[in-house]
Amino acid sequence: MAKEELMNYEQALAQFEVVIGLEVHVELNTNTKMFCGCKNEFGNEPNTNVCPICIGLPGSLPAVNKRAVESSIQIGLALGCDIAPTGRFARKNYFYPDLAKNFQTSQYDEPIAFEGALEVEVPSGNKFNVLIERAHMEEDAGKLTHVGGATGRIQGAEYSLVDYNRAGVPLVEIVTKPVFGAGAEAPELAAAYVRSIRDIVRALNVSDARMERGNVRCDANVSLRPHGAEKLGTRTETKNVNSLRSIERAVRFEIQRQAAILAKGGSILQETRHWHEDRGVTSSGRPKSDADDYRYFPEPDLVPVQPSKEWIEQLRAGLPENPADRRRRLAADWGFSELEFRDVVNAGLLDQIEETVAAGAKPQAARKWWAGELSRIANDESKDVAELAISAQQVAELAGLIDAGKINDRLAREVLGFVLAGEGSPTEIVAARGLEVVSDDGALIAAIDEALAGQPDVLDAIREGRMQAAGAVIGAVMKAMKGSADAARVRELLIAKANA
Ligand SMILES: [Zn+2]
Repeated sequence: MAKEELMNYEQALAQFEVVIGLEVHVELNTNTKMFCGCKNEFGNEPNTNVCPICIGLPGSLPAVNKRAVESSIQIGLALGCDIAPTGRFARKNYFYPDLAKNFQTSQYDEPIAFEGALEVEVPSGNKFNVLIERAHMEEDAGKLTHVGGATGRIQGAEYSLVDYNRAGVPLVEIVTKPVFGAGAEAPELAAAYVRSIRDIVRALNVSDARMERGNVRCDANVSLRPHGAEKLGTRTETKNVNSLRSIERAVRFEIQRQAAILAKGGSILQETRHWHEDRGVTSSGRPKSDADDYRYFPEPDLVPVQPSKEWIEQLRAGLPENPADRRRRLAADWGFSELEFRDVVNAGLLDQIEETVAAGAKPQAARKWWAGELSRIANDESKDVAELAISAQQVAELAGLIDAGKINDRLAREVLGFVLAGEGSPTEIVAARGLEVVSDDGALIAAIDEALAGQPDVLDAIREGRMQAAGAVIGAVMKAMKGSADAARVRELLIAKANA
């Protein structure tokens, strides 16, 4: 494959205005599928969760899953959308082997939710109001596995397997209006937007929201136009990008690729593109047809969805706090610096810190452990910090032991390691392993005397006011006592000894 020519990013932004549009598919975590009673479960034996309805056998009749409608309305409300009093399903007609029915049951001109907005903050702290055009209900397709090729793609494969377990799983597709004005931050905005959607559906508990399983996936539209131009440029749609980092990289790549073509007088092909995580590039997919090529028509086997006003208001009243409001509240409560707060937001640590504070820790202590040592360990183990085997209560307990003077920072890190290894709670580990700080003067004085024997000049130095000399003795005492000495007390005793 020919290597794509790219324009330098800054140069591309100097020449062109970036316009993005995002389509996010959210897989709902209902017990059963959208139109039949089959289980909606990830990871089962292929083709075990199927029935005549979800594989479209003749004579089978679908019925709408009420819980899926409810989840869709909740998502719509959380995005500030209006909810349609009547919404109809439509057939989107196309053939693909993962779609046994030959059409996808979706919504076309009557989506369940429309005209919303979401405030999205990017890592720099800039905020953007992303306008939502619509959120509609539809069903997922099955899953194809291409076997025999090097890349897992259909090109070069010897044969393909199809698993219809996912066919008919409820999806909500959320579509933004074109987003202008993000400039150089368009890639970060795309990723931050998807993260906000993920956080919202997770808070609503309507989706497992695990991007690595494809519960939340994004199609990213990118187009460029000369600064000041009215007409939108031709867009490309990079399909099914399923990590936040990949979204950011894919949008950045498309900006650079399109800029290089346009600057040479070329034109952009309206097409779908694939993102290749390994090589960090997008490649051409298929020419992107306009919507009416699918010959949508109203689904004759399903009655329109007509949620009552009472139901909608009941769901609205039960919405969790909006993520932007929550960030403002926590920022005010915790009193972190702007940079500290932004860092914990970007690291996705709000839940952990909030729970740790609720369990009794001071906000700064909670931040320190989650953003410091625990993030470092998670990073070393290529895990999400949420996957570590430690609870917010345990972190709060650890911070409490430090505040009470029972352990110091160094011992706390050691205790943390044992908690992660499953040895129990911090208090239990400190007791079982005898990790408590030693502040007993007798033991400390003995250790100081021993350390001084090797460094007899230190007392003179301290008497002359050269306090840095004390550091070596404190260090030697800490080492001899395996880090369990109360360093502040060692220092006091040393000074007292020098001036005795
Ligand atoms: Zn079924």
